[in-house]
Amino acid sequence: MPRARAKAPASDAAPWWLTDGDEECLGCGQLYIYEMEFRCPECEMTTCIHCRRRRPDGRVVCVSCLDAGGPGDGG
Ligand SMILES: [Zn+2]
Ligand SMILES: [Zn+2]
Repeated sequence: MPRARAKAPASDAAPWWLTDGDEECLGCGQLYIYEMEFRCPECEMTTCIHCRRRRPDGRVVCVSCLDAGGPGDGG
């Protein structure tokens, strides 16, 4: 039984955290590894790390919550 390639130089390929994912991001639809999952503390939606955003106050939320934050006066 032929063994898999030891190490293939990753070029023009998706990052490793997107290549072997079983979880589907609810934000962008990409597949990602469970370990790389990000859970939004406000809506508890699970997304990939690429769909998380940081608010000016430092709170990290999903894209939806970031947009739904409302027009707050700049701090
Ligand atoms: Zn995503
Ligand atoms: Zn959210």
